[in-house]
Amino acid sequence: MNKNPYAWIESSLDTIHRANWYRFVQTVDSLPDATLMLSGQKVINFASNDYLGLAGDKRLQQSAIQAIQAFGTGSTGSRLLSGHRQLHRDLEQAIASTKQTENAVVFSSGYLANLGTITAIVGKRDLILADQYNHSSLKNGAILSGATIIEYPHCDISTLTAKLNQERPKYRRCLIATDSVFSMDGDLCPLPQLLDLADEHSCMLLIDEAHATGVMGKTGGGCAEHLGCTGREFIQIGTLSKALGSLGGYVAGSHQLIDFLRNRAPSWIYTTALSPADTAAALTAIQILQQEPERRQQLWKNVDYLKYLVTKNLPNLKTLATESPIICFQLPNADTAVIVGEKFKEAGIFAPAIRPPTVPTSRIRITIMATHEQSHLEKLVQVLAEMKIGM
Ligand SMILES: *Cc1c(COP(=O)(O)O)cnc(C)c1O
Repeated sequence: MNKNPYAWIESSLDTIHRANWYRFVQTVDSLPDATLMLSGQKVINFASNDYLGLAGDKRLQQSAIQAIQAFGTGSTGSRLLSGHRQLHRDLEQAIASTKQTENAVVFSSGYLANLGTITAIVGKRDLILADQYNHSSLKNGAILSGATIIEYPHCDISTLTAKLNQERPKYRRCLIATDSVFSMDGDLCPLPQLLDLADEHSCMLLIDEAHATGVMGKTGGGCAEHLGCTGREFIQIGTLSKALGSLGGYVAGSHQLIDFLRNRAPSWIYTTALSPADTAAALTAIQILQQEPERRQQLWKNVDYLKYLVTKNLPNLKTLATESPIICFQLPNADTAVIVGEKFKEAGIFAPAIRPPTVPTSRIRITIMATHEQSHLEKLVQVLAEMKIGM
């Protein structure tokens, strides 16, 4: 036996290249903002999840620096074994207050919050009903849990109802899991209907508010607030790394749920606590969320202005139905996606063209920020118009 056991990596990479699926990372050399220095070129940034422009905010920087000076750069271990800082609890209380839940717990990322929660609350004898467009972290959490997984067509309540009627009685517990704002499409889950169905069929409901926290709802409480479901019992997961400009994830829910997760979620128990700097920055971001609603208002004004420009100037471009600052323009095929990517680069626009297998159909996916200026949005529409993409 002299076959190199790693030789398959090279041939797999070749396959990825041949299919035009190869991805690479570009280097940003400036503070995160509506414009960036990207690989030496100044670009308008439509590729960020920093919806409120907080990731470069001086106040977040200051609180992170102070937390490092007071508590150091590392959290030194798992919270159960090594202890946590009061900052961790302050952040969790601020999240619970924003989400109007009894309690919350922070994880080292949103991805880990989903993995840890799903694996803790369901197992082999249980059923997960999942929207087909769910985020990777929900999908992999479901697989890791060992539960039976049934995917339902995107936001399709009638198929979900039929599956519940057929399958629910065969299992011990049942979990319905869905993004609240869908990350690659920008549309919303039908939360009130999902809650009613969950009640009716004795199911738990878990929503992933990663793109909704700080963005949706009057006070930034997410889709739960936006869709009038605050106060009902369900499991709300989110991230500190998008609108909150920091790093980490959270779960918000009842005291008992949070207490249970602290005892049973492996990706919380067996990993190092969120760093003091990340914790402090997220806490300051939540305070800003409350004190400066005008940031969220400006974000939505920008969304409206872009939609207005698109309707006026790009009648042939098809926009996916969106109810969030994630806006997708449909492309006829994957080859167009590559060409669009190059044209954007020439024009100084940073926006990803997303292709299968990440999404079912090729598209340009842009995210709007509160800190975009009108001229940024106008430039985007002008460049799109020059490309004359017809569907
Ligand atoms: C970004 C994202 C996550 C992961 O959050 P991180 O904190 O970046 O790990 C989870 N779910 C959805 C829907 C997301 O968009």
